[in-house]
Amino acid sequence: MTPSPASQHLFERAQAVSPGGVNSPVRAFRAVGGTPIFMASGEGAWLTDVDGRRYVDLVGSWGPMLLGHAHPEVIAAVGAAAARGTSFGTPSEPEVLLAEEIVARTSAEMVRMVSSGTEATMSAIRLARGFTGRDKIVKFAGCYHGHVDALLAEAGSGVVTLGLPETPGVPAHVTADTIVLPYNDRSAVEAAFAEHGDAIACLITEAAAGNMGVVPPEPGFNEFLSQVTARHGALFISDEVMTGFRVTRSGHWGLDGQREGWAPDLVTYGKVMGGGFPAAAFGGRRDVMEQLAPSGPVYQAGTLSGNPIATTAGLTTLRLADADAYARLDDASRQLQRLVTDALTSAGVAHTLQNAGNMFSVFWGVDAPVTDFAGAQAQEAWRYKPFFHAMLDAGVYLPPSAFECWFVSAAHGEEALTRIAEALPAAAQAAARATAAT
Ligand SMILES: *Cc1c(COP(=O)(O)O)cnc(C)c1O
Repeated sequence: MTPSPASQHLFERAQAVSPGGVNSPVRAFRAVGGTPIFMASGEGAWLTDVDGRRYVDLVGSWGPMLLGHAHPEVIAAVGAAAARGTSFGTPSEPEVLLAEEIVARTSAEMVRMVSSGTEATMSAIRLARGFTGRDKIVKFAGCYHGHVDALLAEAGSGVVTLGLPETPGVPAHVTADTIVLPYNDRSAVEAAFAEHGDAIACLITEAAAGNMGVVPPEPGFNEFLSQVTARHGALFISDEVMTGFRVTRSGHWGLDGQREGWAPDLVTYGKVMGGGFPAAAFGGRRDVMEQLAPSGPVYQAGTLSGNPIATTAGLTTLRLADADAYARLDDASRQLQRLVTDALTSAGVAHTLQNAGNMFSVFWGVDAPVTDFAGAQAQEAWRYKPFFHAMLDAGVYLPPSAFECWFVSAAHGEEALTRIAEALPAAAQAAARATAAT
């Protein structure tokens, strides 16, 4: 590993004042070892660390940076908004414009802005419970919906990265009403609804799972979920915090343009819709959304919700993300997926690369499709560690966990892809040589 003196120094200081030296667990590199890299700046597809080294970024702030870092028009819009004042605690125009943009593009008839994906899913669940007068919720193992107490049961993302079986601090009674099922398992869904149907407030699922690695829903699975929930008077919450506006302009994964077909009752957004700022939202059917305070009795609020900076960043990002930007992004992602597969195949590394549109990840040592959390956990995640470090040393910044999705941006062009192509063969060799003990 190349030493990173400035990152090392900052990490030591950070560890003295922050648990684990980070503000979100996966950033700490625990799954891959070594010192987290402290970034100083970003531009387009590139990040520069505090030691002055440049990397092609394949994390994209874990999804939001659809247009790449520091897009000049986003920065200009945010700068102009900031100069007018950063938060008023009153309604302001940008939040209306962003809500109109989301309502125009998606199946949501109304939206409420919040500041994180966690807040969006937490609030959507409260609303579903308030609307139905029922307590139970259904989620899938390996899906991650933020760190909401009731949703941390068998969650993906950092929970699986760190191998945590469950988290202390969540009382048993809080998860007692959470039913956890295997992803893509229709008969398990049917059975749970047959047994508890009239007590289930909602089912929440990632529109395409991206937090146990990328595990797309089997064809028709989401529609099936919408039918089962409807039959039992429960709400279907599609969590599009990761997929929303990343995979399609419509904001819906796998439902592109199908406004007249089925639609989720509630949907959650975050990541891309904040344009790199803390903005998220939940929305959906008007009759459900109108149960929210102040039009209805279900309470939900936020000091910085819909603030003009975050909503301006999100709105500018969504407006710039035209069909051309998605075409560039999808093309870069396809090229990259091919480069990765070719390099791993040449080095003799068994693997399965799975995608949901332009989101993708690699399952190591697996040669059949991964359809659920058990399959994702069965991979040889240890092969990722030397691969990750070889890529990092060659100037490619990958997610520091085998269970996270790789994110490309519309700014990933020729130079970035060349850097990755040059780095891959040696990294693939390192993965081939890896043993479970290393
Ligand atoms: C990231 C993510 C969340 C949580 O969003 P935060 O902004 O990190 O709270 C929720 N659901 C999904 C599907 C996510 O990918």
